[in-house]
Amino acid sequence: MREVILLKLGEIALKGLNRRSFEEIMMKSIRRRLVSAGEFSVTSRQSTIYVEPLNDSADMDMAEERCAKVFGAVGYTRAGAAEKELAKIQERAEEYLREELELADTFKVECKRSDKKFPLKSPEIAAGVGAYLLEKYPHLRVDVHEPDVTVWVEVREEHAFVHADARPGAGGIPVGCGGKAAVLISGGLDSPVAAWTMAKRGVELTAIHFSSPPYTSELAHDKVVRLLRKVSEYSGRIKLITVELTRLQEEIRDRCPEELGTVILRRYMLRAAQAIAREEGCLALITGESLGQVASQTIQAIGCTDAVVSMPVFRPLIGSDKAEIVKTARRIDTYDISIEPYEDCCTIFTPKHPRTKPNLEMVERGEGAIDGEALLREALEDVKTMYVNAYENAGR
Ligand code: ATP
Ligand code: MG
Repeated sequence: MREVILLKLGEIALKGLNRRSFEEIMMKSIRRRLVSAGEFSVTSRQSTIYVEPLNDSADMDMAEERCAKVFGAVGYTRAGAAEKELAKIQERAEEYLREELELADTFKVECKRSDKKFPLKSPEIAAGVGAYLLEKYPHLRVDVHEPDVTVWVEVREEHAFVHADARPGAGGIPVGCGGKAAVLISGGLDSPVAAWTMAKRGVELTAIHFSSPPYTSELAHDKVVRLLRKVSEYSGRIKLITVELTRLQEEIRDRCPEELGTVILRRYMLRAAQAIAREEGCLALITGESLGQVASQTIQAIGCTDAVVSMPVFRPLIGSDKAEIVKTARRIDTYDISIEPYEDCCTIFTPKHPRTKPNLEMVERGEGAIDGEALLREALEDVKTMYVNAYENAGR
């Protein structure tokens, strides 16, 4: 073994009795996403997950890229492995960190020794490695306060490892530790970010998308699939269930008060979503709503929408500004897809002057004009299901 990837566990290291099972869930998720990168062993010790390539054909760059997106890790780094002898550790540090050290003016060495039987203590190892590097790279100076490069030496059970500063990991909690929820996904900016945000808290995602052909096109559906594929780089596989709401939307347009059309449609979306979520074993719904963003996202409108469901509805973006949502969308690479201009079923038949402060009585009366239950049943009878996964059969 010459090189490994180390993932430093975050919050799950604190989770007491659940810790082991959380670690198992995280390791399983790492193994799944590394299948197409080659053969690796994935093990955990002392709040660290070790990803070791089992042969030379393992693709470490691909593995690193994928490990960077695993929830549950506060940091990750590639590290050079060395035999547990000071001379070997010195040589490995010099060679493994050559690029960083050549570019740096200052450095320091930090050592962690979890193998207490190792004959040298941490300060002695750090001093030994530091002196060796100063000799090999005469341009370097030691700066213990603000070094350009920190050389980390970790002496563990079987090997010693050398690496530079770890990079920030994806954070959060491993997906699968937080139960299962159904995200209502449109092709917009907000719902993929909402989905990602909840996956970060350990929630396994099922996605529900409403389409209205022929008013919405196959391209709009394809956009949703591509968005979910991006989210799945973090969340793992997502089941996508697509429901056609054309008839229901036409009836709402033709029979319900125009200014309440959007709120009524949203109530049916939530009813449909809850029915599907129950069948899928999901315990909550997720939407991308943000307070005050549009007429259907005022406190009053949200109150009218929530009145039709008994499941918790998570709205992780409720207090976020558009600029903050855009920032996350760019980070998770959904932004460019979201801004493609395909019609969503929410934007067809939109009222010219939607009610921003509807009350429940008014909405219930307006809704009475259609046989919503029958239309809903009809829509739910014929749903389409597929799985979306960025990593399945992923080539090199
Ligand atoms: P987004 O950017 O996510 O589309 P939005 O700001 O456009 O959100 P709305 O169109 O009012 O807001 O939708 C609010 C939320 O309702 C969305 O974030 C999403 O969770 C859900 N939603 C909207 N349209 C659909 C759809 N066609 N299928 C499934 N869910 C939808
Ligand atoms: Mg939208």
